[in-house]
Amino acid sequence: GLILEESELSSMVNRELYLPAKTQDDKQVEILLNAGLSADTNIAINQGVDGVGLYRTEISFLLQQRFPSEDEQFKQYRSVLASYPEKQVVMRTLDIGGDKALPYFPIEEDNPFLGWRGIRFTLDHPDIFIIQLRAMLRASCESHNLSILLPMISGAQELDDALQLIEQAYDEVHELDNRVRMPRVGIMIEVPSMLYILPLIAHKVDFVSVGTNDLTQYLLAVDRNNSRVSDVYESMHPAVIMALKQIHDTCKQYQLPVCICGELAGDPMGALLLIGLGYETLSMNTSNVARTKYLIRQSNLAELQDLANKALSKPYGSDIYSMMLNYFEEREFTGFIRAGKK
Ligand code: PEP
Ligand code: MG
Repeated sequence: GLILEESELSSMVNRELYLPAKTQDDKQVEILLNAGLSADTNIAINQGVDGVGLYRTEISFLLQQRFPSEDEQFKQYRSVLASYPEKQVVMRTLDIGGDKALPYFPIEEDNPFLGWRGIRFTLDHPDIFIIQLRAMLRASCESHNLSILLPMISGAQELDDALQLIEQAYDEVHELDNRVRMPRVGIMIEVPSMLYILPLIAHKVDFVSVGTNDLTQYLLAVDRNNSRVSDVYESMHPAVIMALKQIHDTCKQYQLPVCICGELAGDPMGALLLIGLGYETLSMNTSNVARTKYLIRQSNLAELQDLANKALSKPYGSDIYSMMLNYFEEREFTGFIRAGKK
């Protein structure tokens, strides 16, 4: 068997970083990058991806002593957009609250993950929101590769309000620079209400991005950061897999581009299961890119579809996990799981 050391595995997959993420039966998967969580602004070093699927903008707000100015944000965003000149960069608007508190804007709440976070905060502070939107739009005037992603949308009204502010920011920037173009605008699917609302608002957005981290947290009513209940946080819980199937099918029906940007997309088993469910675009941290592409190249779409179909009939998350583990053992992929555990 192919029993390789972790370092051998990673040099093997890294040698093939530039090869396409195409299964043996020729299914091409788009691999995008999650960026922005670290202070490392040099994201140009992340090669082998088709673009940026999630740029988290929180970090520049978290590292400062005050809200960053429009010009500070503009410079930051422009350098990110310029790093991917021919590719799309999906920038998410500020998603603070929850576990991400600003030192200069403390929020005291009993249930922060159910409280003033993401779009709820920015819609209540349109001044802060507009400054960020203007900075993003100005930053894209030359590269024209910006998409805007709205976090924590739970209903149609929030989307309408956010779209109106995007229009306003666009008009303001257009006065200054007529090269500005209206970006693609999408929403995160991470609050379970959106499973039901999505068909009704599909025509209002250009794309969606599924945040499996929060979707799992809210679907299973389990704090994603609480180690006491980490057993309850099952990333392959049947309800999560069913929800992902439903989102995929709705997006297909409405011809809405969809990406998965939660951690599941960069997890070796998760990625293959998602492809089996029909997902064609995965966004992940740089450390998972080479490995995921390699695993995709060793796989058959038909086999992954078969696994996904079986997963959809299993009532226990542990059964889905065992089935995937079994597949990994048969294919001698288990080294990738070990290498992936942090
Ligand atoms: C998610 O919720 O899955 C996601 C990608 O966003 P974040 O982890 O930043 O909440
Ligand atoms: Mg989230």
